[in-house]
Amino acid sequence: MGAAPAFDSPADVGHWIAGAATRGAARRSQPIWNPATGAVARQLLLAEEADVAAAVAAAGAAQPAWGELPPLRRARVLNAFLALLNVHKDELAAMITAEHGKVFSDAQGEVMRGIDIVEFACGIPQLLKGDFTDQVSTGIDNWTLRQPLGVVAGITPFNFPCMVPMWMFPVALACGNAFVLKPSERDPSASLLMARLLQRAGLPDGVFNVVQGDKLAVDALLAHPDVKAVSFVGSTPIAQHIYETGARHGKRVQALGGAKNHMVVLPDADLDQAVDALIGAAYGSAGERCMAISVAVLVGDVAERIVPRLAARARTLVIRNGMDPAAEMGPIVTAQARERIEGYIALGVEEGAQLVVDGRGCRVAGHEGGFFTGGTLFDHVHPQMRIYREEIFGPVLACVRVRDLAEAVALVNAHEYGNGVACFTSDGGAARAFTRSIEAGMVGINVPIPVPMAWHGFGGWKKSLFGDMHAYGEEGVRFYTRQKSVMQRWPDSIGKGAEFVMPTAR
Ligand code: NAD
Repeated sequence: MGAAPAFDSPADVGHWIAGAATRGAARRSQPIWNPATGAVARQLLLAEEADVAAAVAAAGAAQPAWGELPPLRRARVLNAFLALLNVHKDELAAMITAEHGKVFSDAQGEVMRGIDIVEFACGIPQLLKGDFTDQVSTGIDNWTLRQPLGVVAGITPFNFPCMVPMWMFPVALACGNAFVLKPSERDPSASLLMARLLQRAGLPDGVFNVVQGDKLAVDALLAHPDVKAVSFVGSTPIAQHIYETGARHGKRVQALGGAKNHMVVLPDADLDQAVDALIGAAYGSAGERCMAISVAVLVGDVAERIVPRLAARARTLVIRNGMDPAAEMGPIVTAQARERIEGYIALGVEEGAQLVVDGRGCRVAGHEGGFFTGGTLFDHVHPQMRIYREEIFGPVLACVRVRDLAEAVALVNAHEYGNGVACFTSDGGAARAFTRSIEAGMVGINVPIPVPMAWHGFGGWKKSLFGDMHAYGEEGVRFYTRQKSVMQRWPDSIGKGAEFVMPTAR
């Protein structure tokens, strides 16, 4: 994959409603930063309630015809979108790096994982076929079909501005819904390019809309009676708010929350592999991944052998502007987020953890205003410490030492989050026991970041997911459709006279 030109448009970022870019009410705006330079790159126009209402109205007007189209014709639009994504994928990746800060190759990977979902969505007609039972009673057949919900909304986080929306809208659209996306305020530009590409792919205007905004826009979507379902991905307190508020308004909600992902390293693990896995999973994307590893659970004598190697590698991380091809880690998304992360490092020291590598005070030549922090490594972290219990969402790896596998499993299971977890070992029996007893939604065996493929579905347990269904995959199809059961009999099979007892098979 070749390098793309940097994205440096100064234009204000507004909404996409009924197939056209619009500034909406434009009463409020906020800056969008380039985190590598610390400069304000453009302004985001924040939606008012009227803008949200306009987007939902456009979606509501467009959905019936879209929902009536044969699934294969909808899938063909997604196929055309897929082709356009493949042409524009580096442009999308450059937008992500410019606003999020992650390194360009990582942004390319994010776009590809989004493309995976579009490829899956192109085959959704197969999953929309119902079940049929011939002759449930004499002369009577029964079948089920799945129909779209209508207008559905997605509210997404800053850390995957392309992939996470694509966990949602390709599946929702393939199922016949119209979609309103409320992207993160931090890195909203990719959403507008995706909207344009959908239009060029032949998606009827109004079927996909974008409203930029903050809590006001989110709450307007949650309260709007025409929004039938809400998919959310973000931090746990907001996920819980979305779930409870959405449910109170009678909506179907899936709300994916925060994480504190553990990687257990058993004494028989391949240590070279474990070091590489921990470094990549803890510091990749500056730790701003919901599947990042933030806790290394070191069993038996592993700590003595692995901590010095982790420290050496953490100290030599190449931290630069994400567009620099040599960069391993870019900046943190905002100055405020860096302050929060560095505040946790100070807290860890106060709490008595051993600070092995301190990432604070990181300076990148030529980018003195950028929001950089280095990779941080703590050892001797204890479960009662806040740096263990709370999500830091930055490049901070906490090592916890335990005696054996049972203690490791108990530790992971006692944590309030249960998104992803990994176990590194060369013992198949231990791996199997771990997989079966661990309380997390996604498990990796010798795989540090086990993000499920498009047709398997993504979701955590405990406080990492509010709602019943995971994102994308078959669970996504179920989320964006509702089942209708049809029972049919024709006049020549109708029985004699009224029946007053519960019908049973005859
Ligand atoms: P966030 O919760 O701050 O924001 C997510 C979305 O909610 C944004 O669109 C934002 O505008 C909106 N929002 C923020 N505050 C709100 C409020 N008070 N009321 C209504 N809406 C509000 O999350 P973030 O900082 O953008 O993303 C990082 C978080 O997302 C981390 O906690 C990370 O673990 C989580 N995340 C989880 C997954 C997952 O699959 N479980 C995936 C990616 C990110």
